[in-house]
Amino acid sequence: MRTLLHWEGDFTPADKATSDYVLLPFEVPPGIARLEVRYAFEGQGRPDSPSVIDLGLFDPRGVDFLQAEGFRGWSGSARREAILTPRAATPGYLPGPIFPGRWHVILGLYRIAPQGCTCTVIVQASEDEGPLPHPPPEAGGPADRSEPEDSGRARWWRGDLQSHSHHSDAPGSLEDLVAAARRRGLDFLAVTEHNTVSHFPYLAAWSGPDLLLIPGEEVTTYYGHMNAWGLSRWLDFRCRTAEQMRAVIDAAHAMGALVSINHPKTDGPPWEYPTDLPVDAVEAWQGPWPLRNRESLAFWDGLLRAGRRVAAVGGSDKHQDPPGEGTPFYQVGHPTTWVYADSRTIPAILSAIRSGRVVITADVDAPWIELTAERGDQRWMVGDEVEPGGPARIRCVVQEGKGMHLRLLTRLGEQAFVPVDRSPFEWTMALDLEKHGYVRAELRGMRHFAEEMPDDLPMVAMTNPIWGARGANP
Ligand SMILES: [Zn+2]
Repeated sequence: MRTLLHWEGDFTPADKATSDYVLLPFEVPPGIARLEVRYAFEGQGRPDSPSVIDLGLFDPRGVDFLQAEGFRGWSGSARREAILTPRAATPGYLPGPIFPGRWHVILGLYRIAPQGCTCTVIVQASEDEGPLPHPPPEAGGPADRSEPEDSGRARWWRGDLQSHSHHSDAPGSLEDLVAAARRRGLDFLAVTEHNTVSHFPYLAAWSGPDLLLIPGEEVTTYYGHMNAWGLSRWLDFRCRTAEQMRAVIDAAHAMGALVSINHPKTDGPPWEYPTDLPVDAVEAWQGPWPLRNRESLAFWDGLLRAGRRVAAVGGSDKHQDPPGEGTPFYQVGHPTTWVYADSRTIPAILSAIRSGRVVITADVDAPWIELTAERGDQRWMVGDEVEPGGPARIRCVVQEGKGMHLRLLTRLGEQAFVPVDRSPFEWTMALDLEKHGYVRAELRGMRHFAEEMPDDLPMVAMTNPIWGARGANP
């Protein structure tokens, strides 16, 4: 191995104030088949470290903001080294030619201690490819190729829109994550690794007729996280300003992807960008409900009340466990996002999410809630806009919810809060949605104390809104 870069330096809070990212250039000579990057910083690996520095890599094809060509990988602070060869790479990094020319190590200054932080980076290279750092994707991996009987008609598909494997910061493998989704009976799974796309070839190889794997990236900035689903290539994450984030959203939309504000709650981490950016969805429910999801729901509800039509989605944000570890109470599918789509394809699923044809339930087999509106022989479902023409009959059907509480909410507040005393349970009421703006339904858990307020009860299922025609509404 020959050493191409041996860099040591100190970072201070003033450096982070200037820029969140630092580029370290190095020259790669022709004929290289193996590149090894290692780094270390004070406190590395300690969960309570006052300093955290992230690692990534760009090749000579380009390092500028939004210029994806040169991106070769990102591992945040989850790894101490990255190895790239033409055929394989450490998860998080992209295999491929080790082009001669100017490469850059990128360091992300996530947190820098007040007294500063010393950091060391070493890059070594070899003309021998050597042992592969990770198996390349192979078709036929863990896929179940059985054909589902109903893959071609409109129905509710159940899935999960946020998950992670060892391609970013989860300890468990992508193979185990995909196997868990199959075991849980999910119809689709978005794998949304932090700031990288090294999992995409594996998803393409392992997606099957029984499980649609959606290529995603969690754009993980130091000021908020955003999922992008249906990407065809890497999406830049090096944002600090609203303008930069807007440019990233535009880039995602240009390739047909959807974006979602993730876990907008105190320790989400929260969303510090403006809320008027053109996002398609909000992760109003992340992981098991008690994890501060009240805040995320309030964030989404605030957008609805302000007149925004943006879909609520769920995401387990499951970071796959190592084999034999983990708890049955927090798995992929906690919560489950149901999408009413014409077929189980990426364009159909994304189109349905964009339209708000989405219901979220606590688990894959949790009680179910369905919300429709009717007037005469017209019928509308969640995501639809009711035509003007006076009140519509709002109908809500709850399955397996006995002992729980059904709640209907509009822009004007709570319209119903009723105990569910049988299964199936049906509730109807007339509402003028031109006046109310929208209606959405929640199924809340049991009441243990008479004075418990609806907001205190755990969410079991929730729908997206049916909209009223805009008219006088915002
Ligand atoms: Zn996140």
